[in-house]
Amino acid sequence: MGFAMVLPCNGVLVKLHDFDLSKEHGSASVAPHWTGTLPFMSIELLIHPGMEHKVGFDVEALIWTLLWIVRVYTDGQNTFKVKDHPLKNWFSNVDLAVIGNTKHHYLRGVEGFTNPSYSSLEGELRALVRKLYKMREAQQDTRFETNQPKLILEDVYGLEGLIRIEDWMRTTSPRWDVPRNTCPEPCGRHCSRN
Ligand SMILES: [Zn+2]
Repeated sequence: MGFAMVLPCNGVLVKLHDFDLSKEHGSASVAPHWTGTLPFMSIELLIHPGMEHKVGFDVEALIWTLLWIVRVYTDGQNTFKVKDHPLKNWFSNVDLAVIGNTKHHYLRGVEGFTNPSYSSLEGELRALVRKLYKMREAQQDTRFETNQPKLILEDVYGLEGLIRIEDWMRTTSPRWDVPRNTCPEPCGRHCSRN
């Protein structure tokens, strides 16, 4: 994520940079390139590696990134060691399918998605998790009924699914698509610098 100062209104523009398959050079790590993003991979890609890419996998990755931040970070710092990391089963298990199932199970939870630092967002994160869980469960029902275990529904992981989540973010309360604290009027379109 990047932040750009908007001088005329004293606001901030938040930008998402997608480095996709980028890899750190000069690192002593011998891990394959995707290990760094393993916690944020879509459940479908973890359980069925090599599946045709869908835009919804990126949407889900954004949701996992958000769920990670509000559970792990405090004042911008992630200080957990792997041993006591609250989400270690999202990356430390070598079996991708097990990680996928662990993350699926995470979506079944009712509460506890935020740490004390982000507790004011708990209700909104619960609602987001529920939305994703219900969309995935509908897909799972269709897979069961049609006996197609790898079926990907367009209204879950295709463009239709992306639009469904966007619509939900625009219509739920509080809305997800506008800054919570905005730059001063008369602009009011950017994030507040405070
Ligand atoms: Zn502004």
